[in-house]
Amino acid sequence: VSKYSTSAAATIEEPIKPSVEVQHTQLLINGKFIDAASGKTFPTLDPRTGEVIAQVSEGNGEDVDRAVAAARKAFDEGPWPRMTAYERQKIMLRAADLIEKHNDEIAALETWDNGKPYEQSAKVEVPMLVRQIRYYAGWADKLQGHTIPADGALHVQTLHEPIGVVGQIIPWNFPLLMFAWKVGPALACGNTIVLKTAEQTPLSALYVANLFLEAGLPAGVLNIVSGFGPTVGAALASHMHVDKLAFTGSTETGKAVLQLAAKSNLKTVTLELGGKSPFIVCKDADVDQAVELAHLALFFNQGQCCCAGSRTFVHESIYDEFVAKAKARALSRVVGDPFKSGIEQGPQMTRLYPNNFVFDPNNQIDSKQFDKILGYIKSGVENGATLEAGGDRFGNKGYYVQPTVFSNVQDNMAIAKDEIFGPVQSILKYKDLDEVIHRANNTAYGLAAGVFTKDIDTANTLTRALKAGSVWVNCFDIFDAAIPFGGYKMSGQGREKGEYSLKNYYQVKAVVTPLKNPAWL
Ligand code: NAD
Repeated sequence: VSKYSTSAAATIEEPIKPSVEVQHTQLLINGKFIDAASGKTFPTLDPRTGEVIAQVSEGNGEDVDRAVAAARKAFDEGPWPRMTAYERQKIMLRAADLIEKHNDEIAALETWDNGKPYEQSAKVEVPMLVRQIRYYAGWADKLQGHTIPADGALHVQTLHEPIGVVGQIIPWNFPLLMFAWKVGPALACGNTIVLKTAEQTPLSALYVANLFLEAGLPAGVLNIVSGFGPTVGAALASHMHVDKLAFTGSTETGKAVLQLAAKSNLKTVTLELGGKSPFIVCKDADVDQAVELAHLALFFNQGQCCCAGSRTFVHESIYDEFVAKAKARALSRVVGDPFKSGIEQGPQMTRLYPNNFVFDPNNQIDSKQFDKILGYIKSGVENGATLEAGGDRFGNKGYYVQPTVFSNVQDNMAIAKDEIFGPVQSILKYKDLDEVIHRANNTAYGLAAGVFTKDIDTANTLTRALKAGSVWVNCFDIFDAAIPFGGYKMSGQGREKGEYSLKNYYQVKAVVTPLKNPAWL
């Protein structure tokens, strides 16, 4: 019996009112919330209904210039890179405390703008944001260079210096976490920031940035320019006074920003891009546990995860049992208004704008997420995969999609090759380890992989053979602040989170001084 058939469908007809008011819709430049230079705004939509939540200031190149100038001044002349690391740390810790205090309002904004279950926002994502900011606050006074033994009578030391003005571009699927992964290490190292939120989800970052101001972050250190990719994003990527760019989004856009960075001032670029991650269930697996983990690996966050385990490889000896149970699990997934308690899946993100809204038709990347997902489901059926569960929209309002499961999926089908970014599980059959290693790696992506086995030798073989930046063994989606995350191949360049992320945000200066009459030479 499908839990998504009756009662939940009723609740999406009358959406629950979020218990938060939208307070910040303007751009944050030089410590002040101000209108865009053009005076223009754009609507941000409630994915439950497609209705407008708020009009948000729409930045353009001129606003990016203003924000970069503020960040430049704050870096070149302001206190942030000059204060002691301990002072920086205290401000970041105060900000984390304030975020924690406003946990529920921030979570409500995130769910309203993005559609993810409120319980996920409130119990997982805001706490992870807090943890991430505290983690990097902890690093602020532990960043240190080295002394290096060199030939001759020399004193050689390395200084770790902030890079300068950092441009950061983030996507809509985890607005708060992407904010945390970017802002935390950049601030800890003493940089100043111009951040562009995704045009679908501008609200939560503005709220949180205001808490940083309240915590004592000096003006100009964190600037936020809301707006669209081809205008705000491209202006940041190509800006001559931005010293470093950190981007998270699709692989296509990643290539575009890398080119813009190269053509302008050769700023260094960190890229966190898409994926088509394998989840490998071995023949010795406990099938019930494997089904549940594979379900989480794909369906978490409405399937809108860069690292989603979107190719479920199952050994032939347990394939039929696994498919039957995966189907039952998908049919029991609780879909509905994300503000309702117990909801596992809310609506998909959408870019469906009101009729009077003029969007740049040249930007074809991921124009309508909801339609794209339904299109992939159709292609799966047309290409001969077996539709086990779901297959259509859920309800007739907003952007909900039924949890969908395909079996008998072949490697060459679009549903097995492309990043769908939706609640569509593709289950593939394999015979032996060498075969599954080859097939799992046979993709342009390499973000993450899941391995489910009780056999330590099998686990060791797979963890070494899989070409992915994260390999989760008997677990999935573990995002502890200290664990690095990033992609092999076309899933990205560089690592975020953990100590590794700091390397993105400091420069190494070698200082060499001759030693006069050294005691030990
Ligand atoms: P997207 O590439 O369309 O947009 C990402 C950001 O880039 C947005 O802020 C957007 O406005 C901006 N942008 C768009 N065009 C631009 C341009 N020409 N110049 C500069 N900026 C531009 O991606 P999306 O649809 O928002 O997000 C989904 C994608 O992000 C998926 O591919 C997903 O896998 C990826 N993602 C990766 C990670 C990771 O850590 N690897 C995390 C989350 C999402």
